[in-house]
Amino acid sequence: MQRSSEEIKTRCACVIENKSIVALVGASGSPSAAHEMVFAESKEIQRIKRADGLRCCAEIILPSIASSFQPKPATSVMTRHRQKRRKVMQQKKRILTGDRPTGQLHIGHYVGTLKNRIRLQDEYECFFIIADLQVLTDHLDDHASIESNVYKVMCDYLGVGLRPENTFFVQSQVPELAELTMYFSFLVTLARLHRNPTVKDEAKTYEVTNMSYGFLGYPISQAADILAFKADLIPVGQDQLPHIEQTREIVRSFNRVFGREVFTLPHPLIGEVPILVGTDGNNKMSKSLDNFVAFAHSPQEIERRILNMVSDRKRAYRKDPGHPDECFAFKYWSIFSPNDTPVVRQECESATRGCRDCKAQLASKLNEHLAEVRERRQRYVSQPDLVWDILATGIRRARTVAAETLVEVREAMKIAFPKLPIKGGK
Ligand code: ATP
Ligand code: MG
Repeated sequence: MQRSSEEIKTRCACVIENKSIVALVGASGSPSAAHEMVFAESKEIQRIKRADGLRCCAEIILPSIASSFQPKPATSVMTRHRQKRRKVMQQKKRILTGDRPTGQLHIGHYVGTLKNRIRLQDEYECFFIIADLQVLTDHLDDHASIESNVYKVMCDYLGVGLRPENTFFVQSQVPELAELTMYFSFLVTLARLHRNPTVKDEAKTYEVTNMSYGFLGYPISQAADILAFKADLIPVGQDQLPHIEQTREIVRSFNRVFGREVFTLPHPLIGEVPILVGTDGNNKMSKSLDNFVAFAHSPQEIERRILNMVSDRKRAYRKDPGHPDECFAFKYWSIFSPNDTPVVRQECESATRGCRDCKAQLASKLNEHLAEVRERRQRYVSQPDLVWDILATGIRRARTVAAETLVEVREAMKIAFPKLPIKGGK
């Protein structure tokens, strides 16, 4: 049966709201429905595509060309799509990794972990945690900015190219993680926690003198974040290695103490640049230190930050030959525009290129690379409902998976109490 243009318009209107796909997500309740939208140039046809190129179930055909269009019923396509996705997900290995909502994501995140996430997002089922509780370790006074930072991090994720179909979630909204943290806390000694080099470094960098129990113990909470999803691979920067080692120790202890192979060992995947130094030339580029270049920065702000960055400390005058191997700007060149490094090196060593010009050029290269991210990010910034909906969908999925793990954990620990009416405390 052919549908009239009016019918098609009505049907699609319940799917799309303000040119956003929020309503489709809500209507289907499917995590897979959070598609990337691509509106075709034509004013007459507006087509929704999935980011991976598969067609979505909905097309808007404007009245003038609607006469021959026969769409399939949306629900059946969505159900089939959901079933297919679930099956694929069951076969895929899992990634768990994430970031603290302490500010805007930066190019250090990109080379340290985001690039790997983007590369592997089709191969693995990905869980991306926004670790809001971890903010309280060393930023207790900043709790009021957590919510807005969660939103910024989400826009950064989607802007940099992580697809909405992945599972994005906020740590505090998955209470199973807190429960698992509690169980794991009995498996780790205080002395072991005190030995963690990253915790020690962070306490020093952020001048935390009176360390809380939550700060000292956050590697246990991070282990719970990873193991609740039985993640196989953890793409992170080098500073996270001690936490993954701690997680692996917890796996071994848990399985041994409770006599069941509930967990398997997760593996770290370190980025192509394990630690990107910040623009201060001293510390790791970090959200909490004002030494970063963020995806959200304007081209002018990026230029300002790069021009002010510490570069060649040994080069006092423009006429002096430079030292590319000891220069932080050159390091950025080699990471973000490696093809240019032979020329940059030659001109620097022969003093035909000054540091200021070199940094101005570097800034425009970075701006070129970030143009697409900036544009995609902006699309999400202007659609808060869509962004929150992607997160809400992710939280539901994360809770389901974590709850399954918790059932196994309680059974292994003999605290499932099958004779009590409220099983597993739920
Ligand atoms: P904060 O200052 O709040 O600690 P951060 O910039 O260190 O923020 P995190 O949220 O702690 O960011 O780290 C998230 C992920 O990004 C981790 O896997 C971490 O290893 C990686 N990462 C962060 N900064 C860098 C960097 N400069 N180089 C490489 N990887 C990084
Ligand atoms: Mg950090």
